[in-house]
Amino acid sequence: MTRSIICLHDGKAIPLRINQAHGAATVGACPACSTADVGVSGRNQRHDHDTYYADAYCIACCAHIGTIEVTVSTIFGIEEDQAVLNGRVRVY
Ligand SMILES: [Zn+2]
Repeated sequence: MTRSIICLHDGKAIPLRINQAHGAATVGACPACSTADVGVSGRNQRHDHDTYYADAYCIACCAHIGTIEVTVSTIFGIEEDQAVLNGRVRVY
């Protein structure tokens, strides 16, 4: 199960949706320019054990509106999952 949200600067957590029309992640109305169903872009991606983070920017006005958080299902952690999926065979 993956959980995708945007945490806005005011502390609100909004579920991240994919707009079928333009295929971008959307946050509803932009808190900076009020554009409805606006897309967001993520920059400065980072992660911890099970969650990716990126700074969220409105694609209409380029304002930094919060942080994208995508939590994935993992037992051993994101780095170990990437090592197993993209690296050499590991023997435990
Ligand atoms: Zn905006």
